[in-house]
Amino acid sequence: MKNNQYQTNYELGKEVQKRLIEFGIENPVNHQLIKQWSNEEHLDSLAKKLIPFLENLGIYSNDEDSSHTANRLVDYWCNQLFYGLDYNYFPQINPMPNEFTYHNPLIAENIKFTSTCEHHLVPIHGVAIIAYKPDSILVGLNKLNSVLDFFAHRPQLQERLVKQIFISLQYLLKTENIAILIKARHDCICSNGVCDYSSSHSSFEFGGVFDSDLSFKQHLLNKLDRIEAF
Ligand SMILES: [Zn+2]
Repeated sequence: MKNNQYQTNYELGKEVQKRLIEFGIENPVNHQLIKQWSNEEHLDSLAKKLIPFLENLGIYSNDEDSSHTANRLVDYWCNQLFYGLDYNYFPQINPMPNEFTYHNPLIAENIKFTSTCEHHLVPIHGVAIIAYKPDSILVGLNKLNSVLDFFAHRPQLQERLVKQIFISLQYLLKTENIAILIKARHDCICSNGVCDYSSSHSSFEFGGVFDSDLSFKQHLLNKLDRIEAF
């Protein structure tokens, strides 16, 4: 969440971004322009550009209303929906040494989130399971949620979202042993004119022991089977 709901670490975010670029999975966005989102005057100028569009669309004829809506929309996109494009909001992680030599899987499940489809800019409603088997460090399970929250707050493709979280967590937790599974419902799913708002899509990545040990893998896939996208 934005607005100091969790501690942030820009430098750590930039290290993660470097990894995403290496793997070719960073969002194709203009980071120079996104840096300007923190500038109120810039947001105001974006809203002013949006007003003629709304008016030309034909759903606003009143300057006052369209200007308010344009400002709300720009604020919603830049400050609420897509703050995960700004590494100033990357969560702080605070790893702890694994002093207890705990080496069993830790599983965070039923993590509900919403993201936004990059193609249509409409909501994706998802549920995630994230598991890791620690090597040298431990982190609080809520940190897994905050990494998911960060990457979900971007225009997304479900496959890229899963990959970004997977690669980031492998880097942050210094282990290959990461698994992430997502089941999501896309508001935009329409094919051949037929809309189906009840269908869901599953995607997953398994690393290290979660990939090689079929019983771990099956255990997590069974969990995914049992959950419903909301
Ligand atoms: Zn879509």
